[in-house]
Parts: sequence; C-alpha cells; structure tokens
Amino acid sequence: MSYKTLKCTVCDWIYDEEKGAPEEGLAPGTRWKDIPRDWVCPVCGVDKNQFKMVEVK
Ligand SMILES: [Zn+2]
Repeated sequence: MSYKTLKCTVCDWIYDEEKGAPEEGLAPGTRWKDIPRDWVCPVCGVDKNQFKMVEVK
C-alpha cells in the first residue's frame, strides 16, 4: 500500500502520509482519510476539501 501526498491548493503546503506532520500532531504514516474532517491546513487554515492529491515521482 503506497502513501499519498496531498497539497493545499491555497498555500501549497504539502502533507505526505509517510512523513506525517509531527509538529501538527499527525504521526508518520497517518492516512489522509484518518485525519479528522475538521482538521485544517496548519499554514492557511482551509479545510481538507481544499487539498488535492499530487503525483509523486
Ligand atoms: Zn494551506
């Protein structure tokens, strides 16, 4: 099972499931779908709907 990478379409902040976002309380390996719906971008504050999956490599 591969990890996904998602990007905030507003500020370009990247969420990588493999790396997580420990500074945001998301452990490495946390799946995008497992992040609470009310989670928001740590940089610009938009919700998950504003994120798009990005192709990596
Ligand atoms: Zn953002």
